[in-house]
Amino acid sequence: TTWVYRFGNGRSDGSKDQKALLGGKGANLSEMSGIGLPVPPGYTITTEACEYVVEHDGTWPDELDDQVRAGIRHVEEAMGRTFGDPENPLLVSVRSGAALSMPGMMDSVLNLGLNDQVVEGIARQTGNERFAYDAYRRLIDMFGDVVVGIDREKFEHAITSMKEERGVENDIDLNANDLRELVDRYKAIYRKETGRMFPDDPWQQLRFAIDAVFGSWTNERAVKYREINSITGLKGTAVNVQAMVYGNMGEDSGTGVCFTRNPATGENKLYGEFLLNAQGEDVVAGIRTPKDIKELDRLMPEIYAELQEHTTRLERHYGNMQDIEFTVQQGELFILQTRDGKRTGPAAIRIAVEMVDEGLTSESDAVRDLVEPGHVEQLLHPRFKNENGYAEKVLGTGLPASPGAAVGRVVFTADDAEEWNQRGESVILVRVETSPEDVGGMDAAEGILTSRGGMTSHAAVVARGWGTPCVAGCDDIVVNAQRKTFTNGEVTVQEGDWISINGSTGEVILGKQPLVDPELSGEFSRFMTWADDLRTLGVRANADTPEDARQALEFGAEGIGLARTEHMFFGDDRIAKMQRMILADSEEERRDALEALLPFQREDFAGLFQAMKGRPVTIRLLDPPLHEFLPHDAEEQEVLAERLEMPVRRVREKIEQHAEMNPMLGHRGCRLGVTHAEITEMQARAILEAAIDVSTDDAPVRPEIMVPLVSTKAEFDHQRSVIDEVAAAVFEERGKEVQYRVGTMIEIPRAALRAGEIAEAADFFSFGTNDLTQMTFGFSRDDAGRFLPYYVQENLLPADPFQTLDQEGVGEMVSIGTNRGRKVKPKLQVGICGEHGGDPASVKFCHDTDLDYVSCSPFRVPIARLAAAQAVT
Ligand code: PEP
Ligand code: MG
Repeated sequence: TTWVYRFGNGRSDGSKDQKALLGGKGANLSEMSGIGLPVPPGYTITTEACEYVVEHDGTWPDELDDQVRAGIRHVEEAMGRTFGDPENPLLVSVRSGAALSMPGMMDSVLNLGLNDQVVEGIARQTGNERFAYDAYRRLIDMFGDVVVGIDREKFEHAITSMKEERGVENDIDLNANDLRELVDRYKAIYRKETGRMFPDDPWQQLRFAIDAVFGSWTNERAVKYREINSITGLKGTAVNVQAMVYGNMGEDSGTGVCFTRNPATGENKLYGEFLLNAQGEDVVAGIRTPKDIKELDRLMPEIYAELQEHTTRLERHYGNMQDIEFTVQQGELFILQTRDGKRTGPAAIRIAVEMVDEGLTSESDAVRDLVEPGHVEQLLHPRFKNENGYAEKVLGTGLPASPGAAVGRVVFTADDAEEWNQRGESVILVRVETSPEDVGGMDAAEGILTSRGGMTSHAAVVARGWGTPCVAGCDDIVVNAQRKTFTNGEVTVQEGDWISINGSTGEVILGKQPLVDPELSGEFSRFMTWADDLRTLGVRANADTPEDARQALEFGAEGIGLARTEHMFFGDDRIAKMQRMILADSEEERRDALEALLPFQREDFAGLFQAMKGRPVTIRLLDPPLHEFLPHDAEEQEVLAERLEMPVRRVREKIEQHAEMNPMLGHRGCRLGVTHAEITEMQARAILEAAIDVSTDDAPVRPEIMVPLVSTKAEFDHQRSVIDEVAAAVFEERGKEVQYRVGTMIEIPRAALRAGEIAEAADFFSFGTNDLTQMTFGFSRDDAGRFLPYYVQENLLPADPFQTLDQEGVGEMVSIGTNRGRKVKPKLQVGICGEHGGDPASVKFCHDTDLDYVSCSPFRVPIARLAAAQAVT
């Protein structure tokens, strides 16, 4: 088996298409080497090796050790140096790199190969003793932390004491002798903490480091990150072993990260940060505040020009905005890494549109690769109502690290963020800086505020990836995590206080600022038309009111896939009539009450038809158990009794009679229409009369009447004949007809199984996957929240099946129902109107299952449009 792929020095065993095997970083290193970019030579140990080692309790596969050594020989040849040779030493780094980027989740160790002899060799070779010992102490620090789990604070403490003893402020001010002594102190810490000596055999160091990277795949943070981001199906992490290049060899050296375009706004301009005389981790860790990349043009114009040439080349080559790490070692530029850059929603749209306009990619590739459903979701996020209205409440301004507005109560630890969020509180997580341990809390927060770190700090990168608003590096404030306060010197904010943050401007604002819904840009509409051109699946909206319908249209819905009628009965003037209807003693009384409800319903439906201008509108007949419309508290029951001129006792008895042990499995859906046909009659009449009223010759209304919760054909037949009879009567009375269709929801497993016979009578199907999930699993929709999170956490389920369709089980019901229905009626219209209609993975499933449309809440319509386009292969 080939476990090791080499790259660099004109060689490249792998390519960018091998991310699953080589990880994103490894695949791209091979690719870059292949197209002739200056990449430090190295090799990648495959994700399969990681999988093997994890599965075999840390044992390496037979050939791995030999291949690792052969890999080192490749690097030695390329560099003209020898690993472990004090005369002419080679140092290497070991880094993790999974197929998907997991920022900060995995570990790396730099400067491997140093020991007391080699460090002298490095000093001689570079003529820089200070540099050599600085590299050595960094090795012990990282190795101690990553490989053997020593608390980094211990090393931090040692260097801080050393600086105090020497009376200096910065690390840079410690000289070679200081650092030599610091190495001894670090080794002593290592010995004290582990009971062992720091290993001075370079091969042993390498082996331990590789094992640590393998092990980091299953550490808590990595597992949690994958969980939060629903990352499954990966074998493990790859391990990249690479020759060290140094950005800290003096003022002609440096290191930085850059994006080929601005990841916050999308502007087509090299964007990034760098530090002179520093190592890569200094930039990412946010320890020193880096300089803007423009400065590099001033300080090292030739290097800047070369960098620009490479970055432009990489963007063209990958057809996507790139996130690139580079190092300059004594005037020589190396590209260390490239990957598709994470970006905000607005940036994603702008980049996609501009890259198409610049001829760098096609419209369909832009739709497929440059914008994710989550980006679209961000664009639909709220903004502040008045960005100019809070000037005097601004506590400070930091970096606009991830745009959008967030309002919440301040918490100071990730654990508190998670806990408060569980209680239903909106929180803003405030930290000096964040670390990978904080991801749970960051995910739970509405927004993130840090007082330290740059645009590429951990907080900024993670927040941008999720679309969580973030203000980073706000040094106007001082955070006291112990006391749970922060202050700008004038105002002190305590835990639990409300603040607002503006991730687009970097402002931190006292109090709860009002938010508004966003407006969508012209670029966005253009992009979405490309998505529409690509997709074959229809997208409708679930909308019950004309306002929702208009919103849905604005977001590009092609019709209404579900208008739930129950909400229509809750208005002040209506609920009384509804209650009268429910509590009526005779059918006649019930009919009277329904008669009074008819004009309201007719008006409701006319509003929907008008808003939708001739597009399809599916109206569902009354679905919930009637008990839901009756008052449950004693006082309201008294009011009702008075209104109905009935003794309270009698009212209570009647309400009692309607109570059910299992209302969701009870007298609801078409079962109501079967026992009370007059309800179906009234609703059918209201729909058809409204359709006639609103229809014009140009835009005829063709209502789709939907019967809920059918389990047998007989139920559907019953309801259909009631509706058809009403239709005949209405058309006769009005002397005018409309085309109408009568279909059913498929939301009970029996209906999915018997879809063939139901299709004989039904004009269309719509899968109600909320109930179908409830009834296929036997999970109560209302109560499963108590245990489902546990199921997901413990991997008993890959995800909450009420959020993303369980394709194996519930999905099989959907395909059985579709196939059996279409076998009888090949052109049967089939849609889905459960919550899953707006979930990208479920949308893909619906496309693959050949449904005609998905229907989802208006705000998810654009997401569904994009997901439907991306489902086309
Ligand atoms: C469903 O069950 O999926 C559905 C859309 O109907 P409701 O959520 O109203 O039960
Ligand atoms: Mg339902």
